[in-house]
This record gives sequence, C-alpha cells and structure tokens, in this order.
Amino acid sequence: MTKSNFYDYLLSSEVLKAVNMLSFTNPTKVQEQVIPAILERKDIIVKSQTGSGKTAAFAIPICELVDWEENKPQALVIAPTRELAIQIKEDFFNIGRFKRLKVSAIYGKSPFYIQEKELKQKTHVVVGTPGRIIEHIEKGTIELSKIEYLVIDEADEMLDMGFIEQIETIISCLPKERVTMLLSATMPRALEALCGKYMIEPIHVEIEEQNSATDRIAQEAYIVDQSDKTDLLRDITIIENPDSCIIFCNTKQKVDEVDNVLANLDYTCDKIHGGMEQRDRLSVMNDFKQGYFRYLVATDVAARGIDIDNISLVINYDIPEDGESYVHRIGRTGRIGKMGKAITFVSQDENRFLKDIQHYIGKEILLKERPAKETVNSLKQEFLEKINTMPEIKETKGAQLNKEIMKLHINAGKKTKMRAMDVVGTLCSIEGITKADIGIINILDISTFVEILNDKGELVFNELQKRPIKGRPRKVSKVDEFR
Ligand code: AMP
Repeated sequence: MTKSNFYDYLLSSEVLKAVNMLSFTNPTKVQEQVIPAILERKDIIVKSQTGSGKTAAFAIPICELVDWEENKPQALVIAPTRELAIQIKEDFFNIGRFKRLKVSAIYGKSPFYIQEKELKQKTHVVVGTPGRIIEHIEKGTIELSKIEYLVIDEADEMLDMGFIEQIETIISCLPKERVTMLLSATMPRALEALCGKYMIEPIHVEIEEQNSATDRIAQEAYIVDQSDKTDLLRDITIIENPDSCIIFCNTKQKVDEVDNVLANLDYTCDKIHGGMEQRDRLSVMNDFKQGYFRYLVATDVAARGIDIDNISLVINYDIPEDGESYVHRIGRTGRIGKMGKAITFVSQDENRFLKDIQHYIGKEILLKERPAKETVNSLKQEFLEKINTMPEIKETKGAQLNKEIMKLHINAGKKTKMRAMDVVGTLCSIEGITKADIGIINILDISTFVEILNDKGELVFNELQKRPIKGRPRKVSKVDEFR
C-alpha cells in the first residue's frame, strides 16, 4: 500500500516538524515505498536516480528509529565521495534536528583526530567514505557494536571506484542483527551478489523516472578546435546568459586554466577539483549553492550526487569520455522535474566520444553552428548587466530550521568536569524552559556548545548571564556562525 502524506507514517512530532520545516509536503515516489519498509525494519534494495528524494527516504525512518538515549552509533551510511557524505550528514542533521540527533561525517583529507574526538562523544549516525571508515575501524576509534542500520548509498559508483572489497570489510565488522539498505542507480551483477550475501529477503524498489533527465534537458553540441574553446565559451555564456552554470573540464589543470580565463573576463566564478583542500572544496560548493557566484568550473567531483537546485546551464568544456559521466554531469541541471540545458564542446578528434554518448543516451545531440558575431554583440549588454549584478542569495536548506534555534557557547568544558546533565539541569531551572527546548549539547575540552530551540535562545542567554552552571557563573555567548 502506498501513502501520500507524511502524517500517515506515524512519525514522531520531532521528525514531522523537521520534515515540515524542510518544506517536504508529500513523500516522493521512492519515499512512499522506502519509508514504511524501513520502519518495519526490512532490508531493502532501491534502484533510483539521485534527485528522487532518496536520501530523505532512508534518513526519515532512520531518524525515527534510532534511540536517543544510546550513546554509541546506531546507523552507518557509506557513501562514495566526501561531498556526498557531507550532504547526507546535513540531511540527517536537518531531519533529526528536533530529535537532537548527533550526526558525524568521516572522510579522508580531513584531520583524523577531530573525527576521532567527535566519535568519542554521543553519536547517533555516522556517514563516511569507505577508506576513512576502515581507518577508524583499524585504529579502534569507531564503535560499531550498536549499529542497527547500514546504508550503502550510490553503490554502483562505489563499485566503479573499486570500493566493494572495503565495503565487505566494513560489513564484516558490523553486528549481524541489522537492517541493510542499498541504493544504486544501476544494479550490476557484483552488487546483486553483494546483496545476496548480506541481506535477508530484501524488498526491491525500482523507481522508473517518468521524465528522464536526458529528456528534460535540452542538449546541444559544438564542434570546435581546442585553441578556439575559450572564445566559444565566452560567446556561449553571453548568448545563454545563465543565472548559474557549471563548466566541466576533464583535468584539474584545465579547470585552473578556464577559471583564470573567466576571472580575467570579470565573471563571478570559482572552481572545484580533487586537488584542492577539502575545506576549500566545501566552502566553494556552499557558496555556489547559495548563489554567491554564477559560474563554477569543475572536474567530475561536482558531477555526482551533489544536490544544487536551479542550475540553468551545464557546459562540457571537455567532452566526458563515457556516457555515464555525461549523464551525471548534465543531470546537475533540470533537477526534480525542472527543465535544463547542457552544451558540449567537441574537438575534431573527439567525435567518437560524442557517438558513444549518443548511443548511451539513445538519442542524437543537436549539433549547432557557432553563433554569429552580430548575435553575440547584440546580446552583450544584457549579459554585462547580469554579471555586474550580485546574484540573489538563496537560503540554505536548513536555514528555516535554524531560525528558531540559537547556539550558545559556555566557557567551560570537560577539563572542568562539565557534563551534559549539568547544562540540562541549569537550563531546566529557568522558568519556561523544558528538556524539549534544549537541542544538541557538544562538550569539548574547555568549551561547551548548546542549542536552544523553539525561539527561546534570547531568554536562556539573558538568564545565563547571572545564573550559575555547575556551581559557578560562566561566561556565556551567542555563536554567530551557526555551524
Ligand atoms: P536526493 O534524491 O536525496 O538527492 O534529493 C533531492 C532533493 O529533493 C533534495 O534537495 C531534497 O531536499 C529534496 N526532497 C527530498 N524529499 C522531498 C519531498 N518529500 N518533498 C520535496 N523535496 C524533497
């Protein structure tokens, strides 16, 4: 039986409130099938594309099912890339917000000891990439004895990246009594074998896209000499004048080069590739999501799974070498039922790639003539006006949830034996404050962070200026940067 309202699933008021505030009015198709199955603790195999709401499909029931009181991680999500791991963490964090769930992301190229410290604290959900999860297992810095829910996301991508053995190693360290979920866009044999080995009578869910990405996206190609590509890029961007655009290149060097060209032309642009520091990659992605600049020059690290709304144009500055990455790249535009446009540059010697792609997507890509100079010139003024206007800044997904939450910093921590119950005790002694108004408490060595929910932050902040915590007045301040 399928349902069409989140209220039908008998979710707790905390999870429902978060779902509402994220503006998820009705479950998507994949959610209709997956949420009830996981709530009944069934193993499940989901064949579905990204953009179908599949992250929330497993995050909603897992947030519902985990036991807040348990300090050790209860859910483990394995994802192929750091970007995806972080995105899934954020989705869990947002959905579990009012249940005060703690979610950690563990991935490479990010300091191990910070993750280690985080994992020592209460953690309900861990999202990680295979390599780093194994590192934590080997060093004994992750506790897996209470894992009840395992999610293997973008399984086909992990197979392509050669992670299957690592996934099996991870599974071998988990309790046998668990719910296992595997999500994948395609289901090659190796994955079927994996499911056969580690799942018990799994439910199969397959969501056919009604209107596939390749149908929703207008696709064009230009034959162009390598040496002419930057000129063509300038002309195309003037003609298309997109609100937001990703330009894909095949190498880091090319990304740097194209980013430089655009910066010299005064485009608001930035870049992302695998050679950059993780911190920089994240901040570029976040700024792009919020619309701080219009043009993102990227390698395939930005092609998969990453959820950015409303990208109007994708340009393949370098043609991808296989159909699958083509589909992933162009799928950044035309998200969730919207129309989009993708333009691919093809140099003379790359014709075979174009043929392969056309074969893969099962249709021809329209070959276009290079735009005439007069056309470009006639549109230049309009283009200049747009690139000289600051784009409209969008709210982040969790912004609505953050509005009624204030994060406070207390100048005391583990070194002064501060415990969560000391903080809760003091806060609940304030008139009008109950446990339900207290969000996540994070106790570090000499600092404690606590979230105050339900718009009661100001009240708590004022009271704590004079009220002692654990016998002494403490310096309490508001944390500006929410996270
Ligand atoms: P995903 O397939 O997990 O990448 O999700 C695609 C997008 O759909 C994300 O931006 C989600 O926040 C959004 N989303 C997930 N579930 C719903 C829903 N029930 N209603 C509206 N948007 C949703």
